[in-house]
Amino acid sequence: MSKQKINKLLIGTNNKGKLREIRSLLPKSIKIHSTSEFNLKSPVENGKTFKENSLIKSKYFSKKTGLVCLADDSGLEIDFLGKSPGIYSARWGGRHGDFTKAIRKVYSELNKKDKNWKNKKIKARFICALSISYLNQKIACVVGKAEGHISDKPRGTNGFGYDPIFIPSKKRKTFGEMRPSQKYKIDHRFHAFKKIRKFL
Ligand code: IMP
Repeated sequence: MSKQKINKLLIGTNNKGKLREIRSLLPKSIKIHSTSEFNLKSPVENGKTFKENSLIKSKYFSKKTGLVCLADDSGLEIDFLGKSPGIYSARWGGRHGDFTKAIRKVYSELNKKDKNWKNKKIKARFICALSISYLNQKIACVVGKAEGHISDKPRGTNGFGYDPIFIPSKKRKTFGEMRPSQKYKIDHRFHAFKKIRKFL
């Protein structure tokens, strides 16, 4: 399988923000399928790392469809919070994936830890594990990172998830204030993608 050229690929995510970004990174020669075409729910992500969860998704969606699947697992690590929310990033938004709620939780955890946190640089990074699987077989699995810090308030309405509170290194704008095309060139998924594209 791994030696054949992939000309059809399923993107194993039900998150529209990620689907849009991953689509934009893939060569136009590959026919892309999404999970919505197959009406598939996401599997239970009970891995202990981003890599494990990414592989759970790519194997699950590949087995359900018979297609080679590219899936990601990603999230935000905040050093001052012991790397939380980490693999629980989506779960901080509750059952309905409410990102306003997730962002409120970040600020309330920071306040609990130190009322004065706004005077500190709160280092954080987005992590993305990308994997490609065919049925139960792993073809590739890599990790990409984007380093930065947490903004003292949410800014910008672009993107999704924690974008309004993350300022990447050497920039002043949050991901939420950047044009998607600008974010896609520097973020964690882009860095992971650079490592995995030789398998496509
Ligand atoms: P997953 O679907 O389990 O990988 O959930 C990842 C969660 O991490 C998302 O629901 C977002 O909350 C967050 N996340 C991952 N990538 C990004 C990003 O590029 N911007 C903002 N939030 C992100």
